[in-house]
Parts: sequence; structure tokens; C-alpha cells
Amino acid sequence: MKDRKLLMIPGPIEFSPSVLAAMSLPTTSHVAPDFIETFGRALDGLCDVFLAKKSMPFVVAGSGTLAMDMAAANVVEPGDGALVINTGYFSDRFAAILRRYGATVTEVKAPSLGDAPSIEAVRSAIESSKCKLITITHVDTSTGVRAPVADYANAARKQGALVVVDGVCSIGGEELRQDEWGIDIALTASQKAIGVPPGLALLAASERALEKHKSRKTPVQNYYCDWAEWRPIMEAYRARKPGYFGTPPVNLVGSLAVSIGEILNEGMDKRVQRHRHLSNAFKAGISALGLKQLPQHRDLQAATLTAAYYPGGSENGLLKEILSEGVIVAGGLHPEIKTKYFRIGHMGAVTRSDILATLGAIERSLIRTGHKATPGSASAAAEKVFAGS
Ligand code: PMP
Repeated sequence: MKDRKLLMIPGPIEFSPSVLAAMSLPTTSHVAPDFIETFGRALDGLCDVFLAKKSMPFVVAGSGTLAMDMAAANVVEPGDGALVINTGYFSDRFAAILRRYGATVTEVKAPSLGDAPSIEAVRSAIESSKCKLITITHVDTSTGVRAPVADYANAARKQGALVVVDGVCSIGGEELRQDEWGIDIALTASQKAIGVPPGLALLAASERALEKHKSRKTPVQNYYCDWAEWRPIMEAYRARKPGYFGTPPVNLVGSLAVSIGEILNEGMDKRVQRHRHLSNAFKAGISALGLKQLPQHRDLQAATLTAAYYPGGSENGLLKEILSEGVIVAGGLHPEIKTKYFRIGHMGAVTRSDILATLGAIERSLIRTGHKATPGSASAAAEKVFAGS
């Protein structure tokens, strides 16, 4: 029997064999010529993944929260007005980070959990708050809600506000066009749809964001995050020259270069379509099992994960049963309903077989925990979606 479990949580995800192989190469010097080339390639490629040819990429050791911290630390000064478009737990986190740097934060909240604020509500909040910056959580991993980033960004740009997008659970799996949509800072972490083990904070900053940093009246209140330190390093590696501020995580950067190569080889449009298709199939299976999803409308449903309520309102041993079937899924995260739902990630190297295996594991586990489900109904619904392609 194979004892390896299938990891289907919304990050970290399962990684491709070549990405994992790159992690195990002998660690080299961060100023060795081959590493300079690798880092330069990863930085160039990151701009292609973010569709941000005009932006400055930053890759530093840390998690997604550090990328959020870096964004706020560099472009927020005490007293600046910031508007957080709140679709869940990670929007709450952005509000907390912005406040830590002295911003006056206004929030425009989704009318209820599983929803997103209307464009009208966002527009009027931008106008009335006179904010200098807005943040958008592209996919809030606590709710599975995907926000209409392009529309929100457009409204903010009309008021001259900087647009910051937390793309930790979206970039590499959902459509995000940084330059075209006028996003000033897009950020993510390595462990989700970018397809690299945890440990890298990834960010791209527009000329406007870099200008805002340059024209600050007060110093950046975070030594490690200051773009004044990191920008020359990123520019050096992109020019295929060495640089040093903090030691880069050499093996992770090697993995990143491999993964970005794979992502660009697949092509951004195709990759987004594949994620959507697999997600549609998975969600069809979840609906066939009678499970209700958190996002209230179909067009709010993220392609990178599925968040579904437990039948009967409680967990009732379901996750343990799914684990005994060899699949790891995640419990709830949003504090208001944490015990009432669970989450399944489907990003990156995920395949049709993974989707079917996970649906089968959920279906059998539901039946064993006393719920009504027709054996094979979930996979039949998913296969129907696959057959339609
Ligand atoms: N934002 C979103 C949308 C996330 O999903 C996460 C992680 N789940 C974070 C931010 C924080 O990232 P990290 O856990 O890597 O610090």
C-alpha cells in the first residue's frame, strides 16, 4: 500500500517533481554566476506571470504575510487614508497591517459572509474616504470568494488611489493582469499557485508605487522590508550582476526559476483556463453531494479552492474519515463559521485524477458519517464537466 497522502489544502500544495528536485541541488553561493543567472531568470519570469512588464519584482525570504507587510511598510505613511475591501480573514489581516504603519483605515465590507462589496459600494467608499490607497484580497482563502479586482482597481484609479492586491491565493491560478488592470502592488507567496515550497514572499511594484516610496516624508518603519535596500539587489540580479542585502534562500529561488519556467511554458491563459475547468468539475461534484458552498454566487467562486459547508452544520468526524482515505483537506478558517465548513485547494500541478480521487474520498467519508449520497454521483458530475471540454 502507498502511504503517501494527497495534499489538497489551499496551500501549501503538491509541487511538481522538477520543482522539488531543484530544492535538493547542492546549495551554491548567492553570488555564484549560475545562481545570478537563475535569480535573474526568476525575477524576469515573475513579471511575465504577473503580466507586469513595467513593474519592479521583489523576491525575499518570507511568507505571504511578509509580502503584505512589505507593501504596507513602503507605501504607507502615518495618517494616510487607506480603504480595505473586506471579503474575509485575510482582508482583516491587511487592515491590521496598515494600521500598524499608521494608516487611517476605512473598510468596505461584504454585505454578508461569502459575498463581495458591490462596485457601487466600493466607488462611494473610495470617494467618501478620500483614501490614498486601497487593498483588495483577490481570493480570500477563508471564504473562497474571488473579488472583481479589475472593476475595483478601475474605480480606485479614477480617484488616483494606489491599488494593492493580495494575490496570495490567486496569482498563477486566476487571471490577474497587473499592468492592464492598473494594479500598483501585486503580491503573493511561493506555496500556492506559484508552485514552490513555502518560504518566498513575491511582490511586483509599479512605477507609481516606487515613486510613492521615493517621495516619502518619513522613513520606512521596517528595516528588513525597505525597498531602498532591496531594489538595488533586484536590479542587480536582473542585470545579471551580484548583489547583497540579506542572503537569498538559494534553493528556493532555484525552485522558483523552475516553477516559473513550467508556468510560462503552459502559458498564462491556458493555466487560468485549466484551473477554472478543474474547479468547475470539482464544484459540480461537491454540488452533486448536496454540499452548499460559501461564495453566494457562481461568479464569486474562486478557481483555486472550494469552500463548502458541512452537511448538518457540523464536522462530525468527516475530516478524519477523508484523511483515512488518503486525502488531506483543510478545516474552516473564518472565525465566525470556523467549525461549520471545510476547504479544498486545487492549484498548481493538480490533475483531473486528483480531483476525482478527492471527490471519491469526500463521498465515501460522507456516507460513512451517516449522510445520504449515491456512490459515484460526485465523480459522475465531475466527469460530465470533463467530457464537455
Ligand atoms: N493572503 C491570503 C489570501 C492567503 O491565503 C494567505 C495564506 N493562506 C496569506 C495572505 C498569508 O500568507 P502566509 O501564510 O504565507 O503568510
